[in-house]
Amino acid sequence: LAKQNGHNHFQFYVASIDQEIRDRKQLEKDLSQALANHQLHLVYQPQINLESKRVIGAEALLRWEHPTRGMVPPDTFIPVAEANGSIVEIGQWVLDQACWQAARWASDGTPLRIAVNLSAVQLRQETIVDDILDTLRRHKIPAGRLELEVTETSFMTNLSDAVAKLHRLNRAGISIAVDDFGTGYSSLTYLKQMPVQHLKIDKQFIQDLLVNEEDTRIANTIIDLGKSLNLSVVAEGVETAEQEYYLSQRGCQLAQGYFFSKPLPPHEFETFVKGFHEQIVENNA
Ligand code: C2E
Ligand code: MG
Ligand code: MG
Ligand code: MG
Repeated sequence: LAKQNGHNHFQFYVASIDQEIRDRKQLEKDLSQALANHQLHLVYQPQINLESKRVIGAEALLRWEHPTRGMVPPDTFIPVAEANGSIVEIGQWVLDQACWQAARWASDGTPLRIAVNLSAVQLRQETIVDDILDTLRRHKIPAGRLELEVTETSFMTNLSDAVAKLHRLNRAGISIAVDDFGTGYSSLTYLKQMPVQHLKIDKQFIQDLLVNEEDTRIANTIIDLGKSLNLSVVAEGVETAEQEYYLSQRGCQLAQGYFFSKPLPPHEFETFVKGFHEQIVENNA
């Protein structure tokens, strides 16, 4: 009986792996059509200066509206796009779209900084720096208005190549943020060598900031590290007034999270910025 059971389990296991492979192949196929079929769009999450209480920029985040599956989260499809290389084309589209949006906002009198996530696979492309600089030129965006978010994994495969490229981007005026800081292979050696200007505290440390003492200590350490290396620190995933208050008292300059706003489509983002700034004026009146 045990043997028979084991056999059934085995068949079930094979069948489910088989199903998984087919699912992934289908997802890959759908993703290859997503751009052409206009299923991708960007949403923008405001980044707030905790001292001045002003929106200083926005992080562009990719969304895929699948015709039958509905919204597919980027944590599901970005790894697929990275594995098959389509992230290069998709990432270029994201950059283009975000710069187009930043140019629109600037011409409407709201020159905001725009943060774009750059995959490690994109950074490995030989032409990436030129592609980024071309995109800025095409949209007539000053380089200082673009921030690129990279994760620590980007530095791992070829450190000197990554350093050289980020230096070139830096020299052009583009700033670099280390995303999800503290979750990857954080090494102070990397940090010392990398031409980066911002650290983003991963939301997992912010979630239980005032509940879990370790998380409080980690957040404090990242804020202090930023101070001593002269990097600005952004807290991501701020959801409560208590977290916001703590971070601003502790000297964290920038924050984003549901407490302020979810990532929003462009029009709603504009409305949010107006409302947020009016509210500040009223509170100070
Ligand atoms: P990320 O760059 O670390 O982005 C932060 C994620 O946290 C976003 O998830 C955002 O919607 C979410 N978030 C923001 N505030 C809060 C909050 O208060 N609470 C919680 N629980 N979550 C919050 P999203 O949009 O699902 O993106 C997930 C990840 O997918 C991103 O993490 C990034 O790594 C990747 N991604 C998104 N768009 C792009 C893109 O255009 N290119 C690349 N390469 N990666 C992207
Ligand atoms: Mg990011
Ligand atoms: Mg992050
Ligand atoms: Mg992340």
